Amino acid sequence: MDLFEYQGKQFFARYGIPVSDGDAVATVGQAVATAERIGYPVVVKAQVQVGGRGKAGGIKLASNAEEAREHASNILGMDIKGHRVDIVWIERASDIAEEYYASFTLDRAAKLHLGMLSAQGGVEIEEVAATDPDAIAKIHVDPVDGLTEVQCRAWVAAANLNPAATEGAVDILTKLYTAYAEGDADLVEINPLILTPDGRVHALDAKVSLDDNSVFRHPDYEVYDATQVRDAREQMAHERDLQYVGLDGSVGIIANGAGLAMSTVDIVSQVGGKPANFLDIGGGANADVMAGALEVIHSDRNVRSIFINIFGGITKGEEVANGIVQALERVALDAPIVIRLDGTNAEAGREILAPRLSDKLQMQPTMLEAARTAVELARDEAAQAAGTRSLSAAESTIQGAKGGAR
Ligand code: GDP
Ligand code: MN
Repeated sequence: MDLFEYQGKQFFARYGIPVSDGDAVATVGQAVATAERIGYPVVVKAQVQVGGRGKAGGIKLASNAEEAREHASNILGMDIKGHRVDIVWIERASDIAEEYYASFTLDRAAKLHLGMLSAQGGVEIEEVAATDPDAIAKIHVDPVDGLTEVQCRAWVAAANLNPAATEGAVDILTKLYTAYAEGDADLVEINPLILTPDGRVHALDAKVSLDDNSVFRHPDYEVYDATQVRDAREQMAHERDLQYVGLDGSVGIIANGAGLAMSTVDIVSQVGGKPANFLDIGGGANADVMAGALEVIHSDRNVRSIFINIFGGITKGEEVANGIVQALERVALDAPIVIRLDGTNAEAGREILAPRLSDKLQMQPTMLEAARTAVELARDEAAQAAGTRSLSAAESTIQGAKGGAR
């Protein structure tokens, strides 16, 4: 789960990483009161989970109450790349001598943590990576050994920061690694990490993504979960305890097991289709779970066909089939369904489904054939929808022509 900047800064502060004094507020009045408490100049920062807020006008300096009021009222409610600003973070403005970049994330290929540090901060790191890759000093950290001070110093030296920043950078990066490892983060990023004219090193921005699977170890992460930004489909799936990721295609996918669900996404793409989602219903494919999954997929207006891909294991074929039958009685669907049912007691399951089959509910013997059918159906349905539209356009043209002749 992704944190807002203000949450990221609170998270950093717990590990002793220096951040500016500030507060997150939701109204103009609170913004001014916070600015008055902190003392000017302050920065008013839009809290949305997208980068480039500065360029979008979501970050403004205020040197008095009038300016704080003006900026807060402009920024609250602002739309930044499709995200509405409901909260602003007010912090004491910093003087900046230099802007750096620092992050830790997992390098899956290397099976090690990856630290990145650059003297070219404040801009998108992807841009630096593309134009001047040597400007990024990288370090791999073995999770068993952790980051030693010797390693950290060598890394900072390799990044060619201003020598005045060396001690502060070593200190912050050591703490940042601890925050990343102990906090079970997938990503911690400070951009910009600044050097002030009086020689302090300080985090001016915070991007933190925490591992959802670590919440049991960190009960306090519940508050972050509560403020997660999810699209309507993802929110609906979250409420039903489904492992769902929204995508932008037209083939809805239901599978049991994350591996099979991923393979299903792959195979739909491979045969030329576009998955509308990833959805793993786990081991128990009973009617409740199946109905919940179908409801979420049904709520996605881009879905033109649904591919249910089940491999019975501990859950037997007939239980899955009964689950599907009952779920279909509860959820009214427009999109046609293609089922592939295999594994334990698949035969028994297929017999249960057989009498229900129709144009709207098909069964295919293999995953590949089922994927092809689902993709074709999605295409047909889309063509039909477009056909209806062009027909009505043609009709209105005729109507228009008639009107013109009159
Ligand atoms: P982002 O654009 O969404 O990444 O937001 P940041 O928090 O990184 O801020 C963008 C830019 O605003 C920074 O790179 C700074 O140049 C500027 N900025 C942010 N906070 C301050 C501050 O306290 N003082 C000054 N002078 N500039 C700031
Ligand atoms: Mn930034």
